[in-house]
Amino acid sequence: KEHNSAALIIGITGIVGSSLAEMLLLHDTPGNPWKVYGVARRPRPTWLSDKRLNYIQCDISNSRETISKLSPLIDITHIFYVCWVGSEDCDLNGSMFRNVLRVVIPNAPNLQHVCLQTGIKYYLGVFDERYKQEPHESPFTEDLPRLPIPNFYYDLEDILEEETKAKLGLTWSAHRPALVFGFSPCSMMNMVSTISVYATICKHENKPLVYPGSDFSWDCYYDVVDADLLAEQQIWASMEPKAKNQAFNCSNGDVFKWKHIWKILAEQFGLEMVEYRKGQKETSMAELMKGKEPVWDEIVKKHKLVPTKLNDIAAFWLADVVFYSDNRVSCMNKSKELGFLRFKDSTKSFLDSIEKMRAYGFIP
Ligand code: NDP
Repeated sequence: KEHNSAALIIGITGIVGSSLAEMLLLHDTPGNPWKVYGVARRPRPTWLSDKRLNYIQCDISNSRETISKLSPLIDITHIFYVCWVGSEDCDLNGSMFRNVLRVVIPNAPNLQHVCLQTGIKYYLGVFDERYKQEPHESPFTEDLPRLPIPNFYYDLEDILEEETKAKLGLTWSAHRPALVFGFSPCSMMNMVSTISVYATICKHENKPLVYPGSDFSWDCYYDVVDADLLAEQQIWASMEPKAKNQAFNCSNGDVFKWKHIWKILAEQFGLEMVEYRKGQKETSMAELMKGKEPVWDEIVKKHKLVPTKLNDIAAFWLADVVFYSDNRVSCMNKSKELGFLRFKDSTKSFLDSIEKMRAYGFIP
């Protein structure tokens, strides 16, 4: 028998998709040996060159293309949906997810489980200014009620429940991660690559590493999740009978302060660190990095990096959101009570992501 399980990862080039691919191809991953299919729109990137990965270029917002590319994959046993459109559009995000489920569920007779990734905006509300809403107080627990505003995460979780009912015995899990630390340069939200690129540009321009955030975020407790740990939780939930048909938070299991990470970032890139100073004028990383596209092109050339565009590898708007936020911690008790006991030191997670980005040639 060639494989026991066959995974379809939707969003293979993304921050969690890339980790899922690596994790599922390890020989000791539960459910192994896995056959892995990975879907994204762009051509296969260099870091996903493992020949065992079946890379499929497909735009899942196009239902015809989704039917033609995904209906032949009749051996899929598990779906990992780690994809979004890059905006909070409920209809578009919902129809992409539906397109995939409506093709795979009827065509893959051995399909057992669907993992969906949403996130802590389930508790915080969306970025969209039109729907300003007081968030839930943290620590967040999975049983908190939905906020009374539109949120594509609510739509996706509803679609997940609704569509999986079509097949007897098909189970699901929804994963609501904190901010993710990972290495993909194609993610629409990669905080580690964003601040690493910011540091690289500071270095290139001989400038110190200024913290462009608020007093509060500098000193508050924050939690994140390592992309590998999140991939492990999704694989665990897809195998563990007790974890079926419910939602799970996912964080590394510790807390840190951005001021500690900032110090490590400065050390990693050989920069002078400028601490947050009381009363400091509010700045924005997006503003500071405006027009730096040619500078990044120059850096890529100078250090012979894998070619990337500044706006692909860095999301400065995300740093602004994070550095103007306050305490937001996810509770991991539910996962732990059901047997998922893995954790990761967030400082190591940060350093590992930087090391991996360097090893792949994304940053100098
Ligand atoms: P990424 O932005 O890292 O990756 C998105 C993936 O989806 C890419 O592989 C992209 O590839 C693919 N994709 C996008 N549109 C299409 C399409 N039309 N057809 C096929 N593939 C497509 O995703 P994340 O893991 O960050 O996000 C997944 C979910 O997790 C989102 O709901 C997000 O809000 C949530 N989340 C993310 C966090 C983070 O820190 N990143 C934190 C908490 C939650 P390509 O562009 O090549 O098509």
